Amino acid sequence: MLCLGIESSCDETALALYQGDIDKSLLEKDLKSEKISYREFPQGKLIGSVLASQAELHALFGGVVPELASREHYRLIGKLYDKLLYDTGVKSQDIDLISVARGPGLLGALLIGMAFAKALALGTNAKLIGVNHLEAHLLACGLEQKLIFPALGLLVSGGHTHIYRMNSPREFILLGKTLDDAAGEAFDKVSKLLNLPYPGGKWLDSLGQRGEIIPKLLPLPYLNNDNLNFSFSGLKTAVSMYISKNPQLLTLSLEQEQLNTDNIELNNLAASFNHAVATTVTEKLKRALLKEKKGEIKAVYLAGGVAANSFVRKYLLNFTNEFKLPLLIPSLKLCTDNAAMVAYTGWLLGGLGLHHSLSLNAVPKGQNIPDDYLIA
Ligand code: ATP
Ligand code: MG
Ligand code: FE
Repeated sequence: MLCLGIESSCDETALALYQGDIDKSLLEKDLKSEKISYREFPQGKLIGSVLASQAELHALFGGVVPELASREHYRLIGKLYDKLLYDTGVKSQDIDLISVARGPGLLGALLIGMAFAKALALGTNAKLIGVNHLEAHLLACGLEQKLIFPALGLLVSGGHTHIYRMNSPREFILLGKTLDDAAGEAFDKVSKLLNLPYPGGKWLDSLGQRGEIIPKLLPLPYLNNDNLNFSFSGLKTAVSMYISKNPQLLTLSLEQEQLNTDNIELNNLAASFNHAVATTVTEKLKRALLKEKKGEIKAVYLAGGVAANSFVRKYLLNFTNEFKLPLLIPSLKLCTDNAAMVAYTGWLLGGLGLHHSLSLNAVPKGQNIPDDYLIA
């Protein structure tokens, strides 16, 4: 089965092809629930991938401008598709399944990918499947290593901070989420307060690596409770107050790629901020593990742009080592938005016989994505 993946949920236009035969003997039907799953996961191959990032365009505005994002997707998607076919020697007629990120994301941006996917499905008779962009972020681990279930998944990206219990590639149960800013958003807003370039997560990370964690400089946000949700807005306010009391932190003009790394106070603030975020996500994951039935969880997944953060990685690795669980993290370029994860997720679910009709709709951020697959 050859599956085309299409990603256009935010500011990356991306397409990828994933190929592999799925042996029917790997499938297993649960008689009670009638659900089909894999006895063992099939292996395929990513045969091509193209991506155009609009990051530079949106950096001019300090954040993603939805209308511009849609227009850029519209301008580029056809050209990128042609390039993918040229690079791989694949013809449109060879594609068996078209997997599109149906949400969550910016509605206008999603609709460009969706319209392209549907038109292609109609024109080639390929089947169509809409996948959850966030679940695809976590399943991206399967492009490089064997998937393990049941597991806990932590998705920390620009728009979301979610903890899932992952029972199978199809069954994700949301255990906790952010009540306000996402982790990546908190990084970006704090770096904006510090006049760092946008998006600021990676800059705060590298400054933090040079600094020292100062205990009590910043609060550990939203830990003093019993739940699995997050709230990062108080942490952002604490940074803002610290900066207003220490205006010397802003005396440097920081140009892109030429970060001054000698400001000890700034580095210490960055280290303390990274520490606060990493401690919080790790503590909530630990809490989730202890709340789930003992011994059931076999692995922990980490994905999304903030999975690139050195503090988050280190703290999660310590935690998973303590509980003797494998930690699955996609390589850096598969952590941020890409179409390989969409092609792979569609291929896995399509292999179970799942698909959608041409009346599939995009689901914007904030709305639930239904489990409304059709079964072939
Ligand atoms: P979503 O999937 O929720 O719609 P997204 O896909 O747009 O969001 P990603 O591309 O996964 O988000 O992640 C982007 C975020 O990751 C940005 O907020 C960026 O600052 C952050 N980020 C990238 N590298 C690092 C790092 N090293 N440390 C902290 N944050 C980082
Ligand atoms: Mg992006
Ligand atoms: Fe994403």
